Amino acid sequence: MNSINADLHCHSVVSDGTLTPEDLAMRAHQNGVQLWSLTDHDVIGGQHRARAAAERLGMKYISGVEISVSWAGQTIHIVGIGFNPDHPTLIEGLRKTRDGRTARGKEIARQLAAVGIAGAYEGALSYAGNPELLSRTHFARFLVEKKVCRSTDEVFKHYLVEGKPGFTPHVWASLQESVDWIVGSGGVAIIAHPGRYRLSELQKHELYIAFKEAGGLGIEVITGSHTPRQYDEYAKIALQYGFYASRGADFHDPQESYIDLGKLPHLPSSLQPVWSLL
Ligand code: AMP
Ligand code: MN
Ligand code: MN
Ligand code: MN
Repeated sequence: MNSINADLHCHSVVSDGTLTPEDLAMRAHQNGVQLWSLTDHDVIGGQHRARAAAERLGMKYISGVEISVSWAGQTIHIVGIGFNPDHPTLIEGLRKTRDGRTARGKEIARQLAAVGIAGAYEGALSYAGNPELLSRTHFARFLVEKKVCRSTDEVFKHYLVEGKPGFTPHVWASLQESVDWIVGSGGVAIIAHPGRYRLSELQKHELYIAFKEAGGLGIEVITGSHTPRQYDEYAKIALQYGFYASRGADFHDPQESYIDLGKLPHLPSSLQPVWSLL
């Protein structure tokens, strides 16, 4: 079961990816993915398309989303899989979470204009496949286009992050809300890329406990957002806290993402995969 090629984390044009759900399905299938999930940020508008495309290819599909959460003054991402995408509470919760992205985008653009980068709001919007989901990724692509930085990776070192131009604190969903929406619609909640958060060891412990108490069950171990050393580190965390383990490339774009759909190491055999719950 651990050797199934499951990829349960990626993004389409419905959020901040550059491929359509149909093209992602094709790419996943070509890369040998056997169980696939599209997990757009705060939006499930691509779910029916992704499922239909996967099913046409004979690839097993599981519904997915990646919810933006504010916790301890930081942004945390919670992935949900296996929920009913027509559940009204989930749909309404995500709509609320998306609210404010437009105003935030205008503030990001104002800050960029103040350091001499004009037209960022319209520029970023031109990269957004879904105007309801204007993301920092779209601003990053605009800054690369304008040759302010050479890559989106470089953008996230000099812009759009805390302490740099184009960062604006934002209040997303709460941890409890995100888990309630996922679990309440029949799904499984998973902490996305735990290695990416700037939290102390104690705060991480508190996050895992709070997440468990909220009803969360899983943690990403093998993800495109982790280094190989972090694969081992979070495999241990999964065992220590009794979390089910997940795997997914966090693929956004063929040029921007280092790890392609399905091209990750298998989950270590010591771990219980999240797909054993499905
Ligand atoms: P937002 O939800 O608008 O704050 O945008 C967050 C998105 O920006 C993430 O989902 C990533 O796709 C991208 N991102 C954030 N931080 C980084 C980073 N350090 N390097 C590359 N991409 C990043
Ligand atoms: Mn993203
Ligand atoms: Mn994420
Ligand atoms: Mn992601």
